[in-house]
This record gives sequence, C-alpha cells and structure tokens, in this order.
Amino acid sequence: MSYLGEDIKKLGFGLMRLPMNGEEIDIEQTKKMVDTFMSKGFTYFDTAYVYIGGKSEVALKEAVVDRYPRESFQCATKLPIWDLKGPEEMETIFQTSLDRAGLSYYDFYLLHAMDKTKVQKADELKAWDFMKQLKTQGRAKHIGFSFHDSAEVLDEILSAHPEMEFVQLQINYADWEDENVQSRKCYETARKHNVPVIIMEPVKGGSLATMPPQIQELFKAAEPEMSVPSWAVRYCASLEGVITVLSGMSNEAQLDDNVSYMEHFQPLTGEERETVGKAVEILRTLPTIPCTKCKYCVDGCPQKINIPEIFAAKNQYTLYNNIDGAKRSYENAVKEGGKASDCIQCGACEAHCPQHIEIIEMLKKAAADFE
Ligand code: SF4
Ligand code: SF4
Repeated sequence: MSYLGEDIKKLGFGLMRLPMNGEEIDIEQTKKMVDTFMSKGFTYFDTAYVYIGGKSEVALKEAVVDRYPRESFQCATKLPIWDLKGPEEMETIFQTSLDRAGLSYYDFYLLHAMDKTKVQKADELKAWDFMKQLKTQGRAKHIGFSFHDSAEVLDEILSAHPEMEFVQLQINYADWEDENVQSRKCYETARKHNVPVIIMEPVKGGSLATMPPQIQELFKAAEPEMSVPSWAVRYCASLEGVITVLSGMSNEAQLDDNVSYMEHFQPLTGEERETVGKAVEILRTLPTIPCTKCKYCVDGCPQKINIPEIFAAKNQYTLYNNIDGAKRSYENAVKEGGKASDCIQCGACEAHCPQHIEIIEMLKKAAADFE
C-alpha cells in the first residue's frame, strides 16, 4: 500500500547511528550498507540537521545522492526549531541541509522532535507557514513532524495543522501501553486524523535487540531462524497506515539482518502477536530505565555526563545481574566525561528528555551501584 503517492517499502534507513571511525563516519562501510539496502528495493533515508553534528546529511550525499539517480530514493531531514533565534534562520538551516546533502529538494521535511514547548516556538517563528511555503516551492515534497509528547498534544497539533501530511512517531511493542511514551494512543490519534505514520525507534534504541535471556529464549523457541530485533521491526511494520519503519543501522550485520526479513515482509501472524505479548509481560516485571539513547540530554549537561551510556550500564545490571560486566560498561561511559556522582542537579537534562526520565534520581542510583 502506498501513502502520499510514494512507493516506499516498510524499512527505512535511519542515518542517526552510522558506523564511525573515531569522530568521523565510516563512509566506506556506509556505502556498502547503502548498496545492499538499495539492491533489495529499499529507498527511504532519514537524517536530521543535528545528527552526528551535521555529518549525517553529508554522508547522505556521499553514500546515496552522489551515487544513485535522484528519482531512485526518497530522503527526509528535520528542522531543529529549538535552536533558532529568529524566523530567518529557518531558511538558512533548510538551505544548509540541502547543500550538505547536494540536493535541490527533500522528499520529506519535518519539524524535529515536536512537543508542547516546541509548538509554542513553532507558532512564534511561524514555522508552519514556512513548511507550507517549502511545499509550494517544491523544495519539500511532503511536510510533517516528528513527535515526542502525549496523544493529547498530538491531537491538538493535528487539529490545528491539517496541512501536516504525516507524523513520525516513536512506536515499539515495549512502549505500546507505556504512559510516558504513549505509543498506542499517539498511533490511534494519527489514525483518527487519517495521517500516515513513519515509525522511529522500533527497537527502542537497540534495547529490544539485547533482551533478557528468558525473552530471547521465548523468541528463539517460536522462530529459531529469526533474530530478536526482527520481532520488534515486524511488529511495527504490521500496523495499518504506516509509511515505513526506520531502523538506525550501525553496521553491515544489522543491515543484513533487517533486509533479510523485510525484503519480502510478512505481517505478524496471530500466534506471533501472542508471542510478543508474552515478551511484554516478562519485560513488565523488569524495572529498566526507558532510555532510547536519543542523546537530547547530553549537550546541555555542564558536567559532561554521558547519561544514556550510564543508563545502558544500569539497565545491563538490571537485566543480567552481572555487576562486573555492568561496571565495565559504566567505566567506559564515564571515561571521557563526568561520573554519575558529578551531577549537580541543575535539571537541564530532564527538560530535554522525550521519555520524561527522572535522570537525576537514576544517576544517584547508578552512582550507588557502580562507584
Ligand atoms: S542535572 Fe546533572 S546530569 Fe542533568 S544536566 Fe545537570 S549536571 Fe548534567
Ligand atoms: S535520558 Fe532521555 S534524553 Fe537522554 S538519551 Fe535517554 S531518552 Fe534521550
């Protein structure tokens, strides 16, 4: 089924966590991944002005735009309105995104990470009018926004802005009924407005790939040949009204796995849905921190604390009860920045966390476990 007149398969390539050589993107490995992806008929690439300090949009140029005919792929990028000092900067940023990627237009252009606060900012900047203007000019074929807030806020935006053609939502089976993320409620709100959805974080920033042993065993018993993350991606791709499901692929193995089951995608069967339901039941019994590693909390931290990696170590400990392994992960997480106990409780991070995590409290617990 196609949406917005675009023929897009149900797997999109998220360019947020590309393979790295130190500070630089490993462009040769990225090119190989792009070639495999395109050779299997996949065409959608998702980046953002802020991803990898702007280098992600440049990688889009080097790995895709310079190497494939323009009509053979679709690409999306996003406008970070939280950074803007005035409305004139919207044009500057959009043009920079075009220039970095070597494009004359984007297929999909999004207001990035919208929530209640950013809606106010978008109103002040008249960002909605700016988006409409890009569409009229043909510099953005489709306009929409990515979203991190409650279904109520989503309903308000979609009611006020019918010109928004699509919405990018954080959906995964673990967060489907989560009251903070509200995957199901947000999805149902988009469906109510008849707005197609692009799904991000189907594997919850990689968390649904490294599951506790009892869940891995459950999935392996049901489908021995299928990987653990395949359940998460197929769960999302099985939903109605979904344009595509983005996966932030970091190496060739992840990409090969994803394309293997998404090339000839089959929706989950009833029995498979029951298996996912059982996995969710097990997950509910484990008190992990719901961090997606989006890193929105990191830049503003005066103590340079690597919050998502500290939380990954904490979750590793919660899931596997392996203090030595978790401590090693913690040491790596604090090697180049502050320790959990260096937090001065300024609260800057919590204001940016789309998952509404009580970061300060969780850091205190991590310090108690690991320091
Ligand atoms: S509250 Fe702590 S972790 Fe958060 S930004 Fe401030 S110092 Fe950093
Ligand atoms: S703590 Fe929140 S803002 Fe920071 S990386 Fe995790 S989910 Fe993102």
